[in-house]
Amino acid sequence: MTQIIDGKALAGAVRAEVAEAVREIKAQGGEVRFAAVLVGDDPASQIYVRNKQRACEQAGIIFELHTLPATCQFVELTDLVRQLSADKKINGVLLQLPVPYEVVGDRLNEVLNLIDPCKDVDGLTVANMGKLVDGTAGLCACTAQGVLHAIHSVCPDVSGKNIVVIGRSRIVGRPTSLLLSNHHATVTVCHRLTKDLALYTPTADIIVVAAGCPGLLTADMVKAGAIVIDVGINRLADGRLVGDVDFEKVACKAAAITPVPGGIGPLTIAFLLKNIVRAYRLQHGL
Ligand code: ADP
Repeated sequence: MTQIIDGKALAGAVRAEVAEAVREIKAQGGEVRFAAVLVGDDPASQIYVRNKQRACEQAGIIFELHTLPATCQFVELTDLVRQLSADKKINGVLLQLPVPYEVVGDRLNEVLNLIDPCKDVDGLTVANMGKLVDGTAGLCACTAQGVLHAIHSVCPDVSGKNIVVIGRSRIVGRPTSLLLSNHHATVTVCHRLTKDLALYTPTADIIVVAAGCPGLLTADMVKAGAIVIDVGINRLADGRLVGDVDFEKVACKAAAITPVPGGIGPLTIAFLLKNIVRAYRLQHGL
């Protein structure tokens, strides 16, 4: 019987833990404050930011939204990020991606690296990425932590497992592959230029798909009994929200699988909250 990994339920438990931690901080006279920066008016980004706001408020975290128009200058964005990063009252700073190319061009790294690594709750600064490569504790990308948590719910120890990660983006695929490798899995990273995905996926005990391509992973590519983690979130022309996995058919073959929606999405938000509290603790030497 295939296990459908209930990301919403797993996320609920993480969020309850975070809310408890925030209550303790408040009881000691502190407060946890998070600032999100949104550039432009991309509707999907607006929804993501609104979901983050709701989750923060439910956990007792104070949420600030800072918006800039898509017509703003690069320097307006860097000034804002610098100011938020320096503000002692703010514990976490997040730049909602993607930022319009007209604003940042090829200089997104410069903006991200203005965030104090102790406030970098997306784990995207060179400092936090470096810590992930090092295997030392920093702030690690939320989705990567969500993926590991989902896997752990059905497979408590990934050491020695063959894991194929499809996608190597800086926010999802790359940190996920590094985190899994730090947990002693044998990780193969595939991407857009991989010649034949089906050469790699059938050897995998666990497959993580984060490519943004609906229907990319089909049942013939999956070993019977594998664990399949679908990170994709794609809106089809008919309005349906689907992942990167041919869910119905792959679910018949897999031992466990995450649905879309209700899988990795809620876990990503839960680990964002967890990172915000972790950031607070780092800043207070706790
Ligand atoms: P996200 O930020 O959600 O990971 P991106 O679009 O930034 O999304 O990255 C998508 C990743 O998926 C890239 O690393 C790309 O190489 C990979 N990818 C996209 N399409 C395919 C494909 N057809 N097969 C394998 N990998 C793919």
